[in-house]
Amino acid sequence: MTNEIIFITQIASIISFIIALFVLYRVLVSQKDATIQLLKEKNEYLKEQLTNAQESTPDKIAKRLSDRIHIITEELERLSKDKETNEELIKRKEQDLKNAQEDLERLKYQLEEAQEIASEFLCPFCKERMAFHEFHPQHSRGQDYEIEVIGFDCGYTTIDGREDHPCKNTKKS
Ligand SMILES: [Zn+2]
Repeated sequence: MTNEIIFITQIASIISFIIALFVLYRVLVSQKDATIQLLKEKNEYLKEQLTNAQESTPDKIAKRLSDRIHIITEELERLSKDKETNEELIKRKEQDLKNAQEDLERLKYQLEEAQEIASEFLCPFCKERMAFHEFHPQHSRGQDYEIEVIGFDCGYTTIDGREDHPCKNTKKS
């Protein structure tokens, strides 16, 4: 797996974590003790997931966001123990979570953009990396011109955009 794929998977798991937290929180606000216990259990599970996610995060932005969400989660858990008196604070934390979610959405969008740009540097069949991109001077019939040669780690090579050598990782019919 490339770092990009790991990172996307990661963001997806963080986003689903936040969504889960939200749903859980809605329930908490409308209910009481039983829900608090559920929240604790769920929190443990989510923390575990988040920790797993952090271990393989190749990007510091995601790490920062994860930390932030982690802190908010812990605060929520603490506040939920004294729900009646902390309603106001809980609402504020809920807003913090919403903001964090929006930041993640933005980050996700930026990542998708970056991936689109990066795809130009990957084999269109197997996604292995570009190995070289060269311009070779040619001389023919009294004319000087250049041909563009692009090669990828998998062997896929194009000359002026046309396939010159196939990708070894993809069997074509
Ligand atoms: Zn390939």
